[in-house]
Amino acid sequence: MSVGERAIRVGHGWDVHRLVAERPLRLGGLTVPFDRGLLGHSDGDVVLHAITDAVLGALGAGDIGTHFPDTDPQYRGVDSAVLLERVVTLAHTRGYVIGNIDVTIVAEQPRLAPHMPAMRERVAALTTRDATRVNLKAKTAEGLDAVGRGEAIAATAVVLLEAGGD
Ligand code: MG
Repeated sequence: MSVGERAIRVGHGWDVHRLVAERPLRLGGLTVPFDRGLLGHSDGDVVLHAITDAVLGALGAGDIGTHFPDTDPQYRGVDSAVLLERVVTLAHTRGYVIGNIDVTIVAEQPRLAPHMPAMRERVAALTTRDATRVNLKAKTAEGLDAVGRGEAIAATAVVLLEAGGD
């Protein structure tokens, strides 16, 4: 951390992807059993995309689209874990570690509660290596809007970066 920079920085991320047939549902770095999956140039993992954007936001480093353009063939079908690990490495090279992460997933279906413990461990493995620093919440959209009609899944994330090591 250079002089003039701060000991903590906060970032926010949001993402939504359309649910379509014949795609695996990738969410929080896991494959969740469901009859549809999230459409995207990458694997469409809205949870990891929201966290990736939150890390970039905290760094003041733009957004996922500028770092990993969807016009670039190398990111076609990419595991979003690769993208998240790259921005976590970027944070480390700039002198920050992830303090904590709070995520809200908005999905009408499938029911996510059974998958949350494993998802939390997976997100921690990609970011802080400490599951107590990761919180995941799942909500429905109460039948409202495209997410509520089950046409899409959305996620928001807030990430705190701390200067230095743990
Ligand atoms: Mg996305």
